[in-house]
Amino acid sequence: MPFQTFVQPEPRPRHGFREDWLVRSFVRSRLPPGVARAIEPELDELGTRAVGPLWDLQRADRLNEPRLTTFDAWGNRVDHIELTPLWREAERLAVHYGLTAKPQERRYGSWSRVHQFLLVHLFHPVTDVYTCPLAMTDGAGRTLLASGNQALIERAVPRLTSRDPARYWTSGQWMTEATGGSDVGLSLTRAELRDGVWRLHGKKWFTSAATSQMALTLARPEGNGPGGGGLALFYLETRDADGQLNGIRVERLKDKLGTRKVPTAELTLDGTVAQLVAGTTQGTRRIEPMLRVTRTWNSVCAASFLRHGLGLAEDYAVRRVAFGAALAAQPLHRATLDDVDAESAGAFLLAFLLVELLGRDEGGELDAGEAALLRLLTPVAKATTGKQATAGASELIEAFGGAGYIEDTGIPVLLRDAQVLPIWEGTTNVLSLDLLLRADLDQGLAALRQRAVRACSAAADGELRSAGAASLAAVDRAMGWHRGTSDPSARQRGARHFTLTLGRALQLALLVEHAAALSGTDDSDAARQACLVFQRLGVDLLRD
Ligand SMILES: Cc1cc2nc3c(=O)[nH]c(=O)nc-3n(C[C@H](O)[C@H](O)[C@H](O)COP(=O)(O)OP(=O)(O)OC[C@H]3O[C@@H](n4cnc5c(N)ncnc54)[C@H](O)[C@@H]3O)c2cc1C
Repeated sequence: MPFQTFVQPEPRPRHGFREDWLVRSFVRSRLPPGVARAIEPELDELGTRAVGPLWDLQRADRLNEPRLTTFDAWGNRVDHIELTPLWREAERLAVHYGLTAKPQERRYGSWSRVHQFLLVHLFHPVTDVYTCPLAMTDGAGRTLLASGNQALIERAVPRLTSRDPARYWTSGQWMTEATGGSDVGLSLTRAELRDGVWRLHGKKWFTSAATSQMALTLARPEGNGPGGGGLALFYLETRDADGQLNGIRVERLKDKLGTRKVPTAELTLDGTVAQLVAGTTQGTRRIEPMLRVTRTWNSVCAASFLRHGLGLAEDYAVRRVAFGAALAAQPLHRATLDDVDAESAGAFLLAFLLVELLGRDEGGELDAGEAALLRLLTPVAKATTGKQATAGASELIEAFGGAGYIEDTGIPVLLRDAQVLPIWEGTTNVLSLDLLLRADLDQGLAALRQRAVRACSAAADGELRSAGAASLAAVDRAMGWHRGTSDPSARQRGARHFTLTLGRALQLALLVEHAAALSGTDDSDAARQACLVFQRLGVDLLRD
């Protein structure tokens, strides 16, 4: 008797624009119609590329990792890092689509940021976190522009935003030292000024995308005091005109849980020539524009991982049969995926509110309240979406059963890579504590409440109104907690729940607004369901 065989068809990702109700409906309901029409062909094209050739290349490249060659055959120190084919293709496409050029080109005015990040949303999950160097490159450009240092702006910004692969530069962001990544004021890197030239000496403990052509970094000029205030922000180019490293040794590449395509290095700076970006102090403050941008990338990438993973899980659910029916037809499996749909929809809408505000800020369009909202939302969105990404990715792995745990399905990388999102660019706790210390916190909270009220006022029926009421009740509880908790230890202990309550409450409000905006369209049912499921999952972490 022949063996019976069972062969499982492999799941395919869905088109991240055309086949995802959320992204499609967001573009059509939120963007001005002229902008939506103009950008749809490009979203369609990149979405097709992402789920076709890029998805195939990502899996073919699965076992490749960046390789560091420290010495050449003749004993010369070379410190050369070879990237993998997927990353080389990702860089080519990033330049082609202008993923760091678009905010500078401003083709659609303040909507250019939304345009850029919709493309990033499609690109991110199939490029093994090539968005890491892109985020830092985008952030470095904004930091230089904010610094007013004309010489550095003219030298670097055209490269960081170039559409020409031969001229394009990426940038690193070298802050973390072994003494601290959160408490970066402990940094030990020294800056010496001799004959008008600054040289840096120290060790940088985590430097991702170590193949970048330039970096922004922190160092303490000799004679400066301790803490972040005594650090200065420096610009450096990693190699000289002959291709020799600029007093930099790549000690090793980190052996990481995830983001394994990202060459994250430990570096020694041994007389690295650098230039001051602006002033000899307050480096941690001067690098804030970088963090505002990278935290926005982080939030979009969190939502992107989840929508991509959900698409794969949805596809698997229609193919996989258990107990006599496709998983997609079984109520509990359906409900499990609906939870991830709702969580990721909340993450997406919050991330893109942040993106919209960033674009309008760069266009000089924000009033004082909206500017305070942008400052408040940057850490809130990063913290909230980072936690949603790891929880959601774990759920998605389980949705594939044992196959989700098997490396050559290409599924497990989602969980490993998502786990970095709550860690880098500020951990959840550190962002939450920073939030409580903000001088403009009250103004930001008032603006957040106003935005939530506006969103919830769109609700036109009982169910959506009740979801809106739950959102506003959670915002009010968070504001009450802030006003009513004065003991410093109690404030610290509650800081994370305060932050996540604000993030989740605003997500629910945005889901109400989106569901109301889609009423009568093909995506109306999906949007309503996401809103009501999200409400059921809960938004108020401060209750009791
Ligand atoms: C893959 C990867 C790539 C990276 N790339 C870069 C890079 O390119 N450039 C760069 O500069 N850095 C980079 N980092 C470093 C990253 O930004 C830091 O690891 C991160 O900021 C946390 O700093 P830390 O490791 O010193 O952790 P710590 O600050 O030691 O934190 C440890 C834990 O303590 C908590 N904690 C700290 N202080 C408090 C407090 N006061 N109250 C309550 N809880 C607290 C934190 O939330 C965390 O959970 C990278 C990290 C990773 C994992």
